[in-house]
Amino acid sequence: MSNEQLDALREQLDDVNVKLLEMINERGRLVREIGDVKSKSGQKRFDPVRERHMLDHIAEHNEGPFYTSTVQHIFKQIFQAGLELQEDDNRKELLVSRKKKPEDTIVDLKGEKIGDGSQRLVAGPCSVESYEQVYEVAKFMKSQGIRLLRGGAFKPRTSPYDFQGLGKEGLEILRRVADELDMVVISEIVSPQDVEMSLDYLDVIQVGARNSQNFELLKEVGGVDKPVLMKRGMSSTIDELIKGAEYILAKGNENIILCERGIRTYEKATRNTLDISAVPILKKETHLPVMVDVTHSTGRRDLLEPTARAAFAIGADAVMAEVHPDPAVALSDSAQQMDLAQFESFLDSLRASGLYKL
Ligand code: PEP
Ligand code: MN
Repeated sequence: MSNEQLDALREQLDDVNVKLLEMINERGRLVREIGDVKSKSGQKRFDPVRERHMLDHIAEHNEGPFYTSTVQHIFKQIFQAGLELQEDDNRKELLVSRKKKPEDTIVDLKGEKIGDGSQRLVAGPCSVESYEQVYEVAKFMKSQGIRLLRGGAFKPRTSPYDFQGLGKEGLEILRRVADELDMVVISEIVSPQDVEMSLDYLDVIQVGARNSQNFELLKEVGGVDKPVLMKRGMSSTIDELIKGAEYILAKGNENIILCERGIRTYEKATRNTLDISAVPILKKETHLPVMVDVTHSTGRRDLLEPTARAAFAIGADAVMAEVHPDPAVALSDSAQQMDLAQFESFLDSLRASGLYKL
């Protein structure tokens, strides 16, 4: 074969490539249109029966030289790319996305605004143990100008033999203390059945890391008129956290605060690995305020203050930390809670850094 002939064949190949490209994009446009129609009528995008039909159709028409299995494999890739295209379009439309709502959502907790550009602190004991214990921490917080009181009443524990929390009695204690000191109560609810009951006691419902993909709970808190603190699951991607928040917003509840609380990695130096870059990513992708839980992410008292500084420096709207009057005897998380003196120096350092104004 002469060089001229080879060049001519190569030219034909280039033409075929361009035609294939045009056809693949033409297919993409059609898939997109179909996706639009389907999402408007509430139909699922992926239809396995239809996909099987298309693969059979391709097999019937295959005249080689490629094996049918090879051609089907190539088409499977094209189908997948089409689905991803629909998914991208769908992402743009998420209610929590900045694309849908460019301005910041500000969650107003009895006058304490989260997401308005100021920095907030949330503190309190890991578990509510008694009225006196909560009151002591809350009183100190109040003296420091902090009104966002958090304590666990329903504790999701790894071992069933560990302290499970005081339950409803814990919520009653939190409410009583908060009313006496004019504070805001945040506490975790672990079961959809308890959401309704909790409304009388809580100002913010916390969805914990272990329940970050408990979709029934997410739907339940999405249906009530109460702000939600939505934690990232310990093995959740940022996208999964965003979609979890979408469950809440899709049910009508717009008052959501996202919380980065560390993810499980192979690193053993800290309890979890604080994914600090999640903060600007969440702020960019969504319009929701973002909090960083320095206690459960690090699990180390000595890292609370530097990670809190990092959180505020990178744009977090709030930082959460656990404080106990006597951590050594705490019924949960005793290794990582601060006592009142440590909390005071934590606050002093944060203020001295200029990153925390209050
Ligand atoms: C908590 O905040 O009390 C808690 C248990 O944290 P997480 O759900 O992030 O583990
Ligand atoms: Mn804890």
